[in-house]
Amino acid sequence: MKTTKIEDIEIIELPTEWPIGPVNLFLIKGEKLTLVDAGRRLERAWEQFNAALNERGYSIMDIEQVVLTHHHTDHIGLINWLLERNPIPVYAHPNCRPYLEQDEKYFKWARTFFTTFFQEQGVPEKFIKRLASSNEDDELKTKVDFINIEEGSFIPGLSEWRVFETKGHAQSHISLYRPRDQVFVSGDLLIKHMPSGIFLEAPIAPESIRSKPLIQYIESLEKCLTFPVSLALSGHGEAMEDVQQHIHETLRKIDKRAQRVKNFLRDGKKTSFQLTQGLYPDKYENALWLLLTDTVSLLDLLVARNEIQLEVENGVVYYLWE
Ligand SMILES: [Zn+2]
Repeated sequence: MKTTKIEDIEIIELPTEWPIGPVNLFLIKGEKLTLVDAGRRLERAWEQFNAALNERGYSIMDIEQVVLTHHHTDHIGLINWLLERNPIPVYAHPNCRPYLEQDEKYFKWARTFFTTFFQEQGVPEKFIKRLASSNEDDELKTKVDFINIEEGSFIPGLSEWRVFETKGHAQSHISLYRPRDQVFVSGDLLIKHMPSGIFLEAPIAPESIRSKPLIQYIESLEKCLTFPVSLALSGHGEAMEDVQQHIHETLRKIDKRAQRVKNFLRDGKKTSFQLTQGLYPDKYENALWLLLTDTVSLLDLLVARNEIQLEVENGVVYYLWE
């Protein structure tokens, strides 16, 4: 990761073995030595993490607390191994709960939720079973106790930093901001080399209807335009200085992609499954979860903007542009 050096933040890059590339962990030397994010649960990543700490004059035992930007397995994977050796407080958004507590009841409910959801989206039965369980993470093996942080929270030992809720990429997503030098630890909200994935999640109690992650993502980006950022430290890839420009470009790209979906409705109403087939005729079968949730997210946005309508027929949702 190429970046301007920030005196009191160490950046540690660890492998994920995923197309997104390595993940960045941050060691903030606040009143307490704070680790932000915990990589993927890979032996290789654990070894590199320990080596990187040693190179910087630290060991696992020096870390005093952990903050998680969100619950995805490339950001929480090493937490168990760390806590086994050094049981320290972990701070995370309350929506990390089902994942950090390995809540089987939630995962079971999520399967039911997605089965119904895919039926409503007109997905043929033959795809549904595979789809409904395809977003499960089983890399975290044991439960992690953690302390809730939300918008506006202050974390003890990190008094210069503010917590911002930045949902969209995940329902548990937070970012950290330090007004003194306008440094922003963005997690996966801002990624320079590729679009942040937008994932649908089953509602987490007390919520009962699904969130609209792309709309949340846009709101999170717009929130970042309301305060100055000198440097954004991303969960993946290079740090970013031109944050405003990056956000405006990202918003423009989303608009363009939404219009492309809308154009497919020119010749009549369609389900999101039919749209996904039309948009990605060669790819849809192998990456259906990703492509379908992407299409649904763009449709959510078009509906919210009153650019298209939806109607329900025999339990199936059709989108129409008239
Ligand atoms: Zn990530």
